[in-house]
Amino acid sequence: MNYHELTKQQLAAIRDEAGAKLEAAKAGGEVFDLTRGKPGREQLDLTSGLLGAVSEASDCISEGGFDCRNYGILDGLPETKKLFSDLLGIPASRIMVGGNSSLALMYDALCRAMLFGVLGSDEPWCRAGTVKFLCPSPGYDRHFAICKALGIEMIPVRMNDDGPDMDELERLAASDPSIKGVWCVPKFSNPDGVTYSDEVVGRFAALRPAAKDFRIFWDNAYAVHELYDERVALADIFAESEKHGTQDRVFYFASTSKITFPGSGVAIMAATEANLEQIHPYLATQTIGFDKINQMRHVKYFGSADGILEHMKRHADVIRPKFELVEDILDRELIPLDFVRYVKPRGGYFISLYFPDGCAKAVYETAKAAGVKLTPAGATFPYGRDERDHNLRLAPTYPANDELRRAMTVFAEAAKYAVADVLLTAKG
Ligand code: PLP
Repeated sequence: MNYHELTKQQLAAIRDEAGAKLEAAKAGGEVFDLTRGKPGREQLDLTSGLLGAVSEASDCISEGGFDCRNYGILDGLPETKKLFSDLLGIPASRIMVGGNSSLALMYDALCRAMLFGVLGSDEPWCRAGTVKFLCPSPGYDRHFAICKALGIEMIPVRMNDDGPDMDELERLAASDPSIKGVWCVPKFSNPDGVTYSDEVVGRFAALRPAAKDFRIFWDNAYAVHELYDERVALADIFAESEKHGTQDRVFYFASTSKITFPGSGVAIMAATEANLEQIHPYLATQTIGFDKINQMRHVKYFGSADGILEHMKRHADVIRPKFELVEDILDRELIPLDFVRYVKPRGGYFISLYFPDGCAKAVYETAKAAGVKLTPAGATFPYGRDERDHNLRLAPTYPANDELRRAMTVFAEAAKYAVADVLLTAKG
């Protein structure tokens, strides 16, 4: 069935039936929140042992006898670098361990670029006039918020099911020296759940941007966040870049926010040794050092990268049923009407829904009025502008399963009501 084939009578019947169900739901007065891409309580409990992983002074002695309780070691403990190095396949010499948030490291990296330039810049980016960034969309709203805050002009690039539209991205990057960078969430992307194919990663490595100080912001936030046993491979951006001599272009980010505790995890930035050397003096001005006790806590708690991978299986066991519950309701209620399209994610934190053009805002508003709060329509696009008004993001991890089921039941009726209503109006 294609939604275009529905007659006016059929659409009206769908809308009216859904409308009646929504009135009943509203009368119940329950309010749900599907906006938050954050772990639920049960997931946080999986990591409770982290809280006591450093309890004695002797736990704080790092390799070489350094005492983590004191100032020093700006770029991270050697054992924490090794943990991330083993986990992500990046040489430890390219890893700088920061504080609790990779988003903060991204913000800092862009601020530094604007104020001081990056390795290879002739001048600070802010002196170069207009600065532009490529933004594969839909994407992560907080990436876009950083650009907006710094006055960086955003250029959306279409997402395909194997990554950004590389023909378009290559054309744009090569066409304009004021395009200084690109945002990437290469694995289980926020929100589509897409993992970049080897070809896409290879094309990023081979990119020929007009700006010689172009940077790829490679935010691998969901590097180990598989929902199923099967490991989803992502090509190694550093190794691919070495083939083309472009490795200085990569700014890589990751964190344990959705491995341990969001807001109390450990974040890293990885870049070539030459990039890290350029950054070091600025970082040294900003801080004497990050929280090394937390770095040590993570090392002691997990023991090894394999320890993290085992732990992630327990996360998956908690959240996989939530994803499947959402997918079952979508498949039963909306797919047969062709009112939504989506790809079942193999990992990450989101389900990205594509409605017929012109429907996303209506679905968002109808759901909200019925008590289901969603990330606003458009939020997944630069400037909040989804030109086709077709994408909405669901975040299924936070609510308890029962609550999620009730929320999705209401959401499905809201979507039916809103899509049928928009299509009916379009038919005149
Ligand atoms: N990057 C992406 C793609 C995310 O989805 C999120 C959180 O939702 C973050 C970064 C935030 O990471 P952190 O907690 O390390 O700042």
